[in-house]
Amino acid sequence: MLNARLGEKIGVIAVGPAGEMQMSAANISVKDPGSRIRSCGRGGLGAVMGSKRVKFISIEPTKNKVALADADAFRAANKVFTKALLSHPITAGLAQYGTNVLVNIINEAGGLPTRNFTSGQFAGHEAICGETMHDTIVERDGQPSHNCHAGCVIRCSQIYNDIKKEYKTSGFEYETIWALGADCCIDDLDDVAEADRIMDDLGLDSIETPVAFGVAMEAGVLEFGDGKEVCRILREEIGNGTPLGRIIGNGTASVGKAFGITRVPVVKGQAIPAYDPRAIKGIGVTYATSTQGADHTMGYAIATNILGVGGSVDPLSKKGQIELSRNLQIATAAIDSTGMCLFIAFAALDDEKCLPALIDMINARFGITLTGDDVTSLGMNILKIERNFNLAAGFTNKDDRLPEFFRDEAIAPHNAVWDFSDEELDSFWNF
Ligand code: SF4
Repeated sequence: MLNARLGEKIGVIAVGPAGEMQMSAANISVKDPGSRIRSCGRGGLGAVMGSKRVKFISIEPTKNKVALADADAFRAANKVFTKALLSHPITAGLAQYGTNVLVNIINEAGGLPTRNFTSGQFAGHEAICGETMHDTIVERDGQPSHNCHAGCVIRCSQIYNDIKKEYKTSGFEYETIWALGADCCIDDLDDVAEADRIMDDLGLDSIETPVAFGVAMEAGVLEFGDGKEVCRILREEIGNGTPLGRIIGNGTASVGKAFGITRVPVVKGQAIPAYDPRAIKGIGVTYATSTQGADHTMGYAIATNILGVGGSVDPLSKKGQIELSRNLQIATAAIDSTGMCLFIAFAALDDEKCLPALIDMINARFGITLTGDDVTSLGMNILKIERNFNLAAGFTNKDDRLPEFFRDEAIAPHNAVWDFSDEELDSFWNF
């Protein structure tokens, strides 16, 4: 509707019905000119926009070019930076299978949370994995690789068509597919795509909402694996703001409270994403200590625990995980503040020319002399400001903990439990 009213060349930032109803799993959706929507997920920002009664913000592209303090230096640095991105094997893999390449990798590692976090492997993984998704997209004349904005060279995104070869969804991410697939046991990619499409339409976080469904399934509200019922509840209950719809639309913690379930995978009220912290302990440290609640993107320890990026740390051992998560969270806070996509981090961790080239680009753009140490200090400052905000808002170190069931229930196939002490977790903030 907005394309028709404002033209295809306009960028749009909008909320859907979930934001209008101020549900705490509500997203803000963002659409670049000529592209499909992407979601600003986690944390329920759509509810904030809804509470201000702002439905959408449109942005006209500027006719002026971005001014560069030193255009030659910028171009030279950009060349080095782009080469580093294109030559890294993980970023190259993202262009082929998207982020969903991770289903088989994390399943193999025994860290794919399944059936509301009761196992680390999903029997139906082949049906939902990146390789199957890629072949299905090709068969149905979709697009296995495109970018979500014009400048990206990684191109991890894709367009997924339905069986009639008509557009169904795009930016079909590992997290969404894991959460509906393994965590809710839905081994049908078309059901998962349909649910993803509805969540995009409603403006709902596609990690928070499916994890909430997993807890609702455990409560007996619907059966594990029932993708059609998930779609019905999304459309009819959440879309219309019925009591059940509001309970699920308010996220995982809300479902746990409403139905008296104790296996509720949240930290600081936010759903735990697609990597089990018992089998991949580095990411557990990030979930526990992240200022935003459970959030893999704050310090993606999967890189070093599983993918061998930035070195190697044993995922099942506690050794080195606090330092790893701390270093990654500091670096991520700095990278996030540049506005770069986080997927540049693989090359930044492995290629010694990548991060300096990014800093050179920033310097050439603004005519400043930022150094590598400045960037590290920037990341540390950001984390400390966020932490102080949380402390002033009433959070304490007791909120930097994972739910108890991770200690009490060992997960297959490694029989692993979460075994960090409170003191070990608190030492994260010693910097
Ligand atoms: S790598 Fe980042 S910017 Fe590029 S298409 Fe993927 S999500 Fe978008």
